[in-house]
Amino acid sequence: MGKKGYMGKILRVDLTAGSTEVEELSDELARKFVGANGLAIHTLYRELRPGIDPLGKENKMVFAAGPLVGTILPFISRTYVAAKSPLTGLFADATAGGFWAPELKYAGYDAVVIEGVSDRPVYLWINDGKAEIREAGHIWGKKTGEAQEVIHREVGQRRAQSVCIGPAGENLVRYAGILAGVHAAARCGLGAVMGSKRLKAITVKGSQDVEVADMEGLKEWLERNPYARFPGSGLDKGYSSRGTVMLPELFQNFGLWGTDNWRRETYDESGEGLFHSTWLKGEVKRNSCFACIATCPGVYRVPDGPYKATVTEGPEYETVYALGSMCLNPDMRAVAKMDRMCDDYGLDTISTGVTLAFAMECVEKGIITRDQLHGLDLRFGNVEAMVQTIEKIALREGIGDLLAEGTRIAARKLDRGAEYFAINTKGLEHPGHSTRGTKGMGLGFAVGTRGAHHHDGRDFEYAPNPLIDYDGDRERARGKGVMQGIITRWTAAADCMGFCHFAEKLYGNRLQQEHVDMLNLVTGLGFTLDELIGVGERVYTLERLFQVREGIDRSKDRLPERFFREAIPGGPHKGAIMTREELDLMLDEFYESHGWDRRGIPTPERLKELGLDGY
Ligand code: SF4
Repeated sequence: MGKKGYMGKILRVDLTAGSTEVEELSDELARKFVGANGLAIHTLYRELRPGIDPLGKENKMVFAAGPLVGTILPFISRTYVAAKSPLTGLFADATAGGFWAPELKYAGYDAVVIEGVSDRPVYLWINDGKAEIREAGHIWGKKTGEAQEVIHREVGQRRAQSVCIGPAGENLVRYAGILAGVHAAARCGLGAVMGSKRLKAITVKGSQDVEVADMEGLKEWLERNPYARFPGSGLDKGYSSRGTVMLPELFQNFGLWGTDNWRRETYDESGEGLFHSTWLKGEVKRNSCFACIATCPGVYRVPDGPYKATVTEGPEYETVYALGSMCLNPDMRAVAKMDRMCDDYGLDTISTGVTLAFAMECVEKGIITRDQLHGLDLRFGNVEAMVQTIEKIALREGIGDLLAEGTRIAARKLDRGAEYFAINTKGLEHPGHSTRGTKGMGLGFAVGTRGAHHHDGRDFEYAPNPLIDYDGDRERARGKGVMQGIITRWTAAADCMGFCHFAEKLYGNRLQQEHVDMLNLVTGLGFTLDELIGVGERVYTLERLFQVREGIDRSKDRLPERFFREAIPGGPHKGAIMTREELDLMLDEFYESHGWDRRGIPTPERLKELGLDGY
């Protein structure tokens, strides 16, 4: 294929055979699926047999970069990782910011497909097109940062970029993540898939250019669009000076802040603990992703207390929710400590915190017994017990071995009504957005490809939004299915191109001409807006087909019982609850907007329209 935007090559690695080969990326594939996530679902749908064990040798992994990545465009640097998830048993992808994806392209590839299982720990070293599988026995067991440092010294490239797992991935913790430098592709347990393959890391370095079809046009477009729109977008002053750590205070004020394992949605007694700017005094520096003009990830040092001198990036909003208010931990210093631990061990902070909250409620109800805890005092608010339990989860020791399975499997093993306290959808633990107070978000969790994930159906309901005909009524259900249909087309297409979803603060959360302009200036492929909307639709529908093949239909597009049975007990959204009728109404709207039938299954006619009838 032509080289504009794309490197035109996919590296395929067979870890069982210890071999590599290079495939061409076809024009047809680029046109139909654009890249990154689209390429991943195309590959995995065709190559994975339904029903395979996600931690078995048949599972495959795709690491990919979109066609806009590695150019001068800001907000577009995401690394995509996809596989069948050991947490959900479904197709899943996780993304990370940072620098790995651009470096993969400079090394000559749009994607790497990993197959088979190595008989010993290894890492993959890709250096300007050449790929080599290297021994990793000496770094197996090391934490993510240290392992990356050793590898970069070994390959003699201080500026190489790695995706890497920690002990949690090696120990097959079902919500182990993958660290790309200091950024995490955390969700859905893809770190455990890497661990099952005994693949410690993929390290890349390159010197090739990403060619752009119209560089002068792109520069001019940059001035007129992201550079002109950035001031006043919220990404400038808010995100760039405080990052997402500013959001907990906002959501607490909305009364939509997951607290006490979602028994509440405000955490008033936290006081200054998790909110306000006191934490920001510990800022060491601000980071940024490749080519970005925002600097939303901040690096902080704990100033005092038992975790003094802990340095961590963030913690991000979701981490403050999961390891803070969900577990009734009001201390940001302790959140920072646990955030650091999760990154070092390679754990998803959301699933870790929500699993801890689940365990605490099970202890409270007598479902987890003292005998199972071996002296651990795992009750809400006991920070030291949380710290100890995180280590046990990563190493699968004691109660950690059960909790390493995630809330869904752990609840099944515990039985005795534990399932009620397991806040997951399709096995993925909920992020910190309200199901009861923002009904569209609740729908997004119920139907999300990945389960309860805020990157499929986005968190758009906090303010009116004329772009998607939204008047600001958070608790209303009617119309939210159509809105989520529009948004999922944007998120699916954005994931194919390589966007950070914060870019929606500049270009909105529905596909628009700006997205098409960017794609065409870089690739020269002459996409139309309708065609790009069709890509979003095609990719989202193929993801759904994968899930349907694994047994998903309307009966599985559900939510945790707590959200149907317990209303929000206080705060601005006091009394809000999700009803089954509301969810059914939104499901009907959502399925119809995608051309699926009432069971949530794409119709043969729709598949034909989308060019998916041969799949
Ligand atoms: S907006 Fe923030 S997270 Fe997104 S690419 Fe820029 S620096 Fe990274």
